[in-house]
Amino acid sequence: MKKKLVCIVCPMGCLLDVEVENDYAVTGNQCKRGIGYAKKELTNPTRTVTSTVKIKGSIHDRLPVKTDKEVSKNKVFEVMKILDSVIVTSPIKVGTIIVENIFGDNVNIVASRSM
Ligand code: SF4
Repeated sequence: MKKKLVCIVCPMGCLLDVEVENDYAVTGNQCKRGIGYAKKELTNPTRTVTSTVKIKGSIHDRLPVKTDKEVSKNKVFEVMKILDSVIVTSPIKVGTIIVENIFGDNVNIVASRSM
């Protein structure tokens, strides 16, 4: 079975053809990173989640946040749901842990900027 993917590792966006039964052999990639991306995307896709949470005491209403490691792609909506109920109070420094160890796997939500 062949799968087609667009590599999202860099802005080139190579169109990859992946032969799943041939140990995920990849063609269409312009560099080696596309090979690793294709296999991971088809076996264990992960993403860094970026979003915002409510902040009190700041001139802005929302604080940009992100996961400090990639999470399984099927947990992205769960992360967003958790962030819906989070309210922080200014001042917050960039890198501050906003939600610790969200799934018990050492992934934290951290502030993406000071506010
Ligand atoms: S295969 Fe390499 S050059 Fe192509 S999009 Fe992926 S990282 Fe960029």
